[in-house]
Amino acid sequence: MTNKLFWENPYLTSLETVVKSVVGDLITLRETIFYALSGGQESDAGTICGYPVIDARKTGSDIEYTIPAGHDLKQGDSVRVEIDWERRYRLMRHHFAAELILELVYRELGEVEKIGAHIAPDKARIDFLWPTNISPLFPKLISQARSLIDQDIEIISAFSDESSQRRYWEVPGFARVSCGGTHLKRTGELGEITLKRKNIGKGKERIEVVVA
Ligand SMILES: [Zn+2]
Repeated sequence: MTNKLFWENPYLTSLETVVKSVVGDLITLRETIFYALSGGQESDAGTICGYPVIDARKTGSDIEYTIPAGHDLKQGDSVRVEIDWERRYRLMRHHFAAELILELVYRELGEVEKIGAHIAPDKARIDFLWPTNISPLFPKLISQARSLIDQDIEIISAFSDESSQRRYWEVPGFARVSCGGTHLKRTGELGEITLKRKNIGKGKERIEVVVA
């Protein structure tokens, strides 16, 4: 199992660690700060021992990194891992903005079904099965989100079940939600949220979430 330090401390931007395995261009590390696509949140960008990471993917409880062919890394080597912090922080902020909006949509619409979500550094999107234009809700969603942001509440992020690597985030007094992403420390880090509606086909509504 790769020890995933991005959960315990999602603000780490570099790490000294050890190569756990090497199979061709695929390597695993003893511990990591480099997130791999999961729960809709895109992978980090960055380097391992100066090599650009081409791909990061979850395999069971490990994370495998693809680095360029011809690398000279061996099992047991000490390496420095560095991530693109600007990108990661934008991913974290868009992720949490989407989480808040999703929770607020559930509260407003009750039986609405979420059918997809994606978190990129420049925006997040959430797709719903919903028969009518969802945008009349936006002023209410924004003002409720605004209130949570202005209160600058601590966001708790922890294991609900460590053996199965299940995590949650919690804003006390608001919500507790299962999620294995990387999360902000406080709601106040979000800043200004804007919402945009996209009609993506019959009976489906998309909300695009952008944080300034
Ligand atoms: Zn999440």
